[in-house]
Amino acid sequence: NRKFLLAKRPEGRPDRDTFDLVEEDVPEPGPGEALVRTLYLSVDPYMRGRMDARESYADPWGVGEPLQAGVVGEVVESNGAGFEPGDLVAGNLEWADYATARGAELQPVNPDHGPISTALGVLGMPGRTAYFGTREVAEVRAGDTFVVSGAAGAVGSVAGQIAKLTGARVVGFAGSDEKVAFLEDDLGFDAGINYKETDDYRAALDEAAPDGVDAYFDNVGGPITDAVFSRLNVDARVAVCGQISQYNAEELPTGPRKLGTLIEKRARVEGFLVNDFQPRFAEASKQLGRWVAAGDVDYRETVTEGLENAPDAFLGLFDGENVGKQLVKVGER
Ligand code: NDP
Repeated sequence: NRKFLLAKRPEGRPDRDTFDLVEEDVPEPGPGEALVRTLYLSVDPYMRGRMDARESYADPWGVGEPLQAGVVGEVVESNGAGFEPGDLVAGNLEWADYATARGAELQPVNPDHGPISTALGVLGMPGRTAYFGTREVAEVRAGDTFVVSGAAGAVGSVAGQIAKLTGARVVGFAGSDEKVAFLEDDLGFDAGINYKETDDYRAALDEAAPDGVDAYFDNVGGPITDAVFSRLNVDARVAVCGQISQYNAEELPTGPRKLGTLIEKRARVEGFLVNDFQPRFAEASKQLGRWVAAGDVDYRETVTEGLENAPDAFLGLFDGENVGKQLVKVGER
């Protein structure tokens, strides 16, 4: 059994040396536990925070300890875990070929609801983040101009489509022409802005969102967000979902300093965590499932082959190598 440990705490940007791939025997499930064979593993930006010693909403990983991730896998052995061998499950497991988990930590995955990988993307945590962030935090309404950063990623691509279904004009920031084409041609966004092609995000926004911004779903922070703040309308809502542009920063800039805009525009800025909506996960999963089945919400996955390449898949998130949800395919079903 291969598994990844945190080799050391990264300073700034992590690299391959942050990860240590070790071999050990396949673990035995203890009482109430199942042994799960990994099929897909999810790499997510928040994992960068767990590599630091700082306490946050997700506990820091210990140096020399296994990394964990959202996994979809197959139960191979159950020691009273409430599952049968062959069952498909999702859970937060180790970055490994095989891992054990208590039955209560696993959720069944129904392959009739779509490709099983979607349990880690559009029908999983990122889809739910988009659902609650767009509807409950950004409170998008028909006729709004809705702007989303990190628009071609797992969360952003779904957030923009939900805003579109609500009747908003939707503008997305993304890091390549290919991604902008994906937003405009495949997902039905009204406009995409390739932020790597221009330094003048305000001018780009004036063109793409001439009526200003009513709701902003922020996945990235930094200069894109500074520009959007300067174009907020009266009563604007900002949902702060992620700040990926800052996750590898060794020194954070001071600020935000332009809070005068929030007074002038009576705007509300609210950070949120998807887990706080846990009591409503079933509602989100049901609605997202319906939208996907009806073709109202489209999704893309970028699949890296092989557990050994999981670090590269993770590091690629910071270079924008993924379109839609970044996954690692570890085993065949
Ligand atoms: P994505 O699939 O969006 O992958 C990350 C993307 O971020 C990359 O593809 C890249 O796209 C973009 N990016 C990377 N660096 C920068 C940068 N410096 N400036 C602008 N864009 C950058 O990841 P997720 O959809 O999984 O997550 C999106 C955000 O939401 C993250 O910040 C994450 O931490 C957060 N999140 C928050 C949750 C919550 O509960 N609050 C839950 C889940 C996610 P590009 O090519 O466009 O640069």
